[in-house]
Amino acid sequence: MTTTLTPPRKYAAPAIKQTKLLIGGEWCDAADGRTFATYNPVNEEKIADVALAVKVDVDRAVAAARKAFESGPWHTMDARDRGQLIGKLADLIEANFDELAALETLDNGKPIRDSRGADLPLVIDCLRYYAGWADKIVGQTIPVRGEYFTYTRREPTGVCGQIIPWNFPMLMVAWKWGPALAAGCTIVMKPAEQTPLTCLRLAELAMEAGFPPGVINVVTGFGETGAAIVKHPDVDKIAFTGSGETAQRIMVDAATTLKRITFELGGKSPNIVFADANLDAAVAGAEFGLFFNQGQCCCAGSRLFVEKSIHEEFVAKVVSRAKARKLGNPLEMETTQGPQVDRDQFDKIMKYIELGKSQGATCVTGGHRVGESGFFVAPTVFDDVTDDMAIATDEIFGPVLSILPFESIEEVTRRANATTFGLAAAVWTRDVAKAHRIAHNVRAGTVWINCYDVFDAAAPFGGFKMSGMGRELGEAALASYTELKTVTMSLK
Ligand code: NAD
Repeated sequence: MTTTLTPPRKYAAPAIKQTKLLIGGEWCDAADGRTFATYNPVNEEKIADVALAVKVDVDRAVAAARKAFESGPWHTMDARDRGQLIGKLADLIEANFDELAALETLDNGKPIRDSRGADLPLVIDCLRYYAGWADKIVGQTIPVRGEYFTYTRREPTGVCGQIIPWNFPMLMVAWKWGPALAAGCTIVMKPAEQTPLTCLRLAELAMEAGFPPGVINVVTGFGETGAAIVKHPDVDKIAFTGSGETAQRIMVDAATTLKRITFELGGKSPNIVFADANLDAAVAGAEFGLFFNQGQCCCAGSRLFVEKSIHEEFVAKVVSRAKARKLGNPLEMETTQGPQVDRDQFDKIMKYIELGKSQGATCVTGGHRVGESGFFVAPTVFDDVTDDMAIATDEIFGPVLSILPFESIEEVTRRANATTFGLAAAVWTRDVAKAHRIAHNVRAGTVWINCYDVFDAAAPFGGFKMSGMGRELGEAALASYTELKTVTMSLK
């Protein structure tokens, strides 16, 4: 591995190696030659111009993916060889670890210590996990009545449109490519317009690994490019991560050809701390669960429910940790909080901070911008938040924590569930029965007990209610990239 064992104190901005579209194994400009800029959120300076794919580019990418799916080496390749290609991609990512970590930090603004310590290891692990699945996707033999032999096959769903957001640009690529490639699907991916660079670099590495032309296609652009993928009649499935509003539009657009759909959307996850918890661990979990990735996590623990008897002590501890966060240049190893990804997100967060103040919550720390350029927001903690305030109901997607006191397990369970979201939840207690009562009764796709944001490629992730549809990761993700076929043969 070329990971620097002792990382430098400060990383240099890496060279930008790829800004074109990948269609049918060729790197090309957009049909009309247009480009768009991607910016550094630290100083709002342009990093690079990237090809802006229009409908004809998407049409070509879908045709290439269809061809690769129905003929050519991908179609006939042994499953184990498919798995080896995925493994080779993971090896190449590991061999380019430092460059990819710095590129992710440059384009997204997340601290290099997180790109190195969380994003990249999870990317590599996810691809290796699915490399192992490729030759283990099996059917069943089924004892039916009569003299028949009946079995099922799990066949790849086909051409998959994959549309991803900017908060974990590389990790979202791995979550989408891993199960799709293991299942034998082909891909037309659109990364987020804010963060296209690492996806393009991963696609270059995929070409180097030897994926046949057309298996992975990447079209960069805005929502219109994504919509062209969704509306394309020859796309079989859409996997989308992003906002609920976009998901609703996608559902309508995908309905014309009844595409398979999986959604991983937002949340307003309850993080519940009982008085009998290990308080220092819970405080650390409350801070990490909200402020990690500048608060730009779909599963951020943004509603912190704290039992009344420890409320005052707990708030003081959380505030002192929030104040200790080190904002600064994310390419420096000591930085723990970088800028928000772009001006839209920054403005939205500042609007919610003002709403929190005007609706009567107490801003105990933060509540303002930091610096005059870049999109830095001070770690913000609101206390005395009530369930009806905007900062308790809406996904803010920023470093803004809302603390809500509670008195009983019944009360907190009811309030935790009083939301249209259901992505994640956490509970902190030393009482095992209480922990499992919460785990069973809170309607969320993931519940963490005495921990937060613990992810593993083998553990399914996804939302109840308006937080999503279907599951990513684990064996569960393979179901959404395969069709189940029943074969029955007469034995007479
Ligand atoms: P978004 O949903 O607009 O964008 C996500 C992706 O969808 C991008 O690649 C975008 O280009 C594409 N897209 C946009 N419109 C499309 C359309 N009509 N058809 C197909 N693709 C389309 O999200 P955003 O504007 O980047 O962020 C807005 C909010 O969404 C955030 O504030 C946050 O609340 C939420 N969000 C959630 C996640 C998550 O991980 N669940 C990630 C990012 C953002």
